[in-house]
Amino acid sequence: MNCPFCAENIREQAKLCRFCGATKGADGWAAPPHPLAAASTRPGASTIRFCALLLIASGIFDAATATSAVALFGSVRGGWVAISYHVLYSALFIGMGVGFLRRVRLSLDLLAVSTLIVALDKISFLIAPVESELVRELRRQRELVDVLGGLENLESLAATLTLVSWCGFALYIWWRRGYFRR
Ligand SMILES: [Zn+2]
Repeated sequence: MNCPFCAENIREQAKLCRFCGATKGADGWAAPPHPLAAASTRPGASTIRFCALLLIASGIFDAATATSAVALFGSVRGGWVAISYHVLYSALFIGMGVGFLRRVRLSLDLLAVSTLIVALDKISFLIAPVESELVRELRRQRELVDVLGGLENLESLAATLTLVSWCGFALYIWWRRGYFRR
């Protein structure tokens, strides 16, 4: 059956809704005593909050490393391109993290935008991999060609893994979107 107050699926024999705290008495279901307090028990709440903390941490890391060069659209870029890149990610991640903690539904839109940006970023890297400083240094020492091939594959593998895990994360949040305020 579905709880008459929060519409979450609960057992037929339930006398207490584990989602919103509504209770079943002699004359039927009664409203939960503190409906808002129930948010923390929504499915996925603790996972989403953990993700929020990770997002805020990586947002702070991006802001702290704002001047470091980035591999973007086929070359390594520094200067204002790198700074805009880091500031964009920092703003998205911190915005999403705070939104997740506060259950703001708008953070689902931020998630969609971020997914698009991460996908463009990683797919462009996979189509045109950029040499990192390390790979470039190794290329100068020709005897290390085998290591070099391995490293390039490793960087593409890392980009693929990032993309796949980001999509998994986005799908999970979308699946648990009931956590956010309507
Ligand atoms: Zn309920």
